[in-house]
Amino acid sequence: MLSADQLLDALLERARGVTEPETVPVTDALGRVLAAPQTSAITVPPLDNSAMDGYAVRVADVAAAGMRLPVSQRILAGAVGTPLQPGTAARIFTGAPVPPGADAVLMQEYCTPLPNPDETTSHSTKPASGQVAGYLPQAGEGANVMPKPINEGEDVIIHALPRPGENIRRAGEDIQAGAQVLAAGTRLGAAEMGLAASVGLAELPVHRKLKVACFFTGDELVTPGTPLLPGQIYNSNRTTLTGLVNGLGCELIDLGIVPDTLEATEAALARAAGLADVVITSGGVSVGEADYVKAAVEKLGRVEMWKVAMKPGKPLVYGRVGEADFIGLPGNPVSAFVTFCLFVRPFLLKRMGATDVLYRAFAVQADFTWRKPGARREFLRARLQPNGKLALFPNQSSGVLTSCAWSDGLVDLAIGQTIDPGDWVRFIPFSELLS
Ligand code: AMP
Ligand code: MG
Repeated sequence: MLSADQLLDALLERARGVTEPETVPVTDALGRVLAAPQTSAITVPPLDNSAMDGYAVRVADVAAAGMRLPVSQRILAGAVGTPLQPGTAARIFTGAPVPPGADAVLMQEYCTPLPNPDETTSHSTKPASGQVAGYLPQAGEGANVMPKPINEGEDVIIHALPRPGENIRRAGEDIQAGAQVLAAGTRLGAAEMGLAASVGLAELPVHRKLKVACFFTGDELVTPGTPLLPGQIYNSNRTTLTGLVNGLGCELIDLGIVPDTLEATEAALARAAGLADVVITSGGVSVGEADYVKAAVEKLGRVEMWKVAMKPGKPLVYGRVGEADFIGLPGNPVSAFVTFCLFVRPFLLKRMGATDVLYRAFAVQADFTWRKPGARREFLRARLQPNGKLALFPNQSSGVLTSCAWSDGLVDLAIGQTIDPGDWVRFIPFSELLS
């Protein structure tokens, strides 16, 4: 029997990447895997710009706190200023280019605008109220906290000494022109999509979606929506797998429930292998009399691995049928869920062309006792409590799906390990496993 680590290594060795790329709009790229590295044609930010609403000054012009400077221009985001006249300040807003000559921006909270000393010099374009269009005090902000709007031709008192470079975002401090922003094999999330857009990319080359066909063996299975007869159970694995497969960004081909006969299992397997890159099934992989999955794979293709020394989830089959990979998960709902997370997810991610496919585990303190040293590696369902420690779901049976919904992740228990409260244990959060 393979260990969990051996099984994972063997699966990743067998996971060929999907090569065919296609092009998608950046806005549709969520969950897709980048097929080629992306570089930036531009510098980001393109110009030195202000990180604050305030006043751009020359540090050398502000000899002491309390100095009064005339305001020589007003620069909004989207506008471009003129070189800063020596001995003056420029009213500036967040994101607006810093005018040549200015080397610091004082935030407006450190400045007091003053009405023009001589009304006759004020600009005729200024609204009569003194209000600058587009710069309205927010509701709830009093006149004492919100500096009065100011325009060129007015003055400002600078209450703090500016430091060179203060509140200036430098051109290129994020990205240099020509730099790689995203590597091939990156799974695209919201941040990566935003990054691509920030350098002006409208489309991205991504690997085509991996096709995953599923079927579910068991004469006892019924699709939710009809009442159960004695002996029947609902096919929950179908719904769990739908969430897991779709969550990875694969295309799911759902072939439904298959009865426990060799003929039906073979027919479903042949159909699935012809339709998909990967076939995943649940149930029928143990050594019971009604377990036909392994026999069907052996007949139509080959079985390369069977059984993994872990709990939950001992029976698990990997094989090939034609061009398709085959993975047979155990029927028990917790076993199917856990083995998918630990083995199938990294396998599918690599098949999708992703480079970062392994989950991370973290050391977390236990708030429970475990006194059942096992002969197999065990993955216990546990929840992170407000005290930062882990509580265990009371029923760790592989049929109790409630344990997975209740928990935040898996405690990875070594063979023979026991646990006392306060012990540091290896914890794999579901956030590492479910996307
Ligand atoms: P098997 O691996 O086929 O022996 O199934 C093991 C256990 O999992 C049995 O109790 C089955 O009833 C249950 N089971 C199998 N398939 C499913 C399924 N699709 N949904 C929920 N439970 C299942
Ligand atoms: Mg069965």
